Amino acid sequence: MKTALIIGGGFSGCAAAHQLELLGGWQVTLVEAGKALGAGVRTMKYGGHPHTFGPRHFLTPWEHVYEYLHSLVPLRRCADHEFLTYVEQDQNFYSYPIHRDDIPLMPDREQIERELEQVRGAEAAKNFEEFWIYSIGESLYKKFVDGYSKKMWMIESNREIDDFTWSPKGVTLKEGPRACWDTAISAYPEAANGYDDYFDIATKNAQVFLSTRISQYDIPGKTVVLNGERQSFDIIINTISPDILFDYCHGELPYVGRDFHRIVLPVEFALPPSVYFCYYAGPEKFTRIVEYKKFTHHKAPTTLISLEVPSKNNKLYPMPFEAEKAVAKKYFDEMPDGVFSIGRAGSYLYNVDIDDTIDHAMRVAEALRS
Ligand SMILES: Cc1cc2nc3c(=O)[nH]c(=O)nc-3n(C[C@H](O)[C@H](O)[C@H](O)COP(=O)(O)OP(=O)(O)OC[C@H]3O[C@@H](n4cnc5c(N)ncnc54)[C@H](O)[C@@H]3O)c2cc1C
Repeated sequence: MKTALIIGGGFSGCAAAHQLELLGGWQVTLVEAGKALGAGVRTMKYGGHPHTFGPRHFLTPWEHVYEYLHSLVPLRRCADHEFLTYVEQDQNFYSYPIHRDDIPLMPDREQIERELEQVRGAEAAKNFEEFWIYSIGESLYKKFVDGYSKKMWMIESNREIDDFTWSPKGVTLKEGPRACWDTAISAYPEAANGYDDYFDIATKNAQVFLSTRISQYDIPGKTVVLNGERQSFDIIINTISPDILFDYCHGELPYVGRDFHRIVLPVEFALPPSVYFCYYAGPEKFTRIVEYKKFTHHKAPTTLISLEVPSKNNKLYPMPFEAEKAVAKKYFDEMPDGVFSIGRAGSYLYNVDIDDTIDHAMRVAEALRS
């Protein structure tokens, strides 16, 4: 048997364990700092309502990734749903992505139309602000993107964001159906405990250490000190921030996090039927609210919503700055053959979602197979 160490037991770590299990011939050790597997995708309860930390609904353009997860934890397709954004300056809710049909409802519609006629296209954009202004004009940018993005990343100016290939959410100004994910599969587990069974199934044959951290890393030597013992592995699959593995020798990678506030409301539903969550683009402290029943189909006379407030209390979103990506690359360059770094923190990429973590794990298995 060949030996594999997986660092981190979030979705990526569990998906990696399962891919090695499917491959066969691997003895897997998984080390997770938290008390349970799954990280923010694990189901918790508040007021009797099952929920995760943030929406965590399963969105993917890849049928095979959907089928893979669905075969292990049956998924329920979400009916068409809309994202809404609340814009305080107009005291109105609009669709997000910004929808062409909402412009006539906006008080400054004439100015917006003039700007849209003059937009020059985003090809020349050097930063996130330019990308949006060149795509949709100043007025729509100010309404939907400017304040939201500064709040989301806890930054002074969106010109600081120079890695913005992920920014359009597919489209900057949408036409046609309002449903936001009309080109992807949108789903959520049917089970009341959400994705939790997946974490157990995926790691069934792995040796899992919870509430454990590795005390020393020698990544070039594929050797670590775990529970006081020096151990070497044939491969390492890392899913945590790569700076930790090298004792921050090139500097600490920055992230933003979220504080999470849960509120039970004395109504059966808080948001309209097609709205699962709602962004707030203005001076509110939170970035979005999520109504969990929409995903879980939990039946109760009350409803649970959460507010996500950007904070530095945890590390959830890698910063979209080229300079920081260059620092992350220094760490990746020091990883020898047989060390893989996957997942959101492990890739140091913001736009890694649940389906991407599965895809990353499948790619590792593919590399090991060939
Ligand atoms: C608020 C929020 C909402 C989201 N909503 C969605 C959504 O609706 N749909 C979607 O597809 N994606 C969503 N995502 C993204 C998606 O959930 C994540 O990309 C995915 O879960 C990342 O999994 P991961 O295993 O790469 O990382 P993580 O989930 O961060 O897992 C890493 C694990 O490593 C552990 N760890 C950390 N340090 C150490 C250490 N030193 N030693 C050992 N273990 C350690 C952590 O405890 C954690 O369990 C959301 C993300 C956030 C933050």
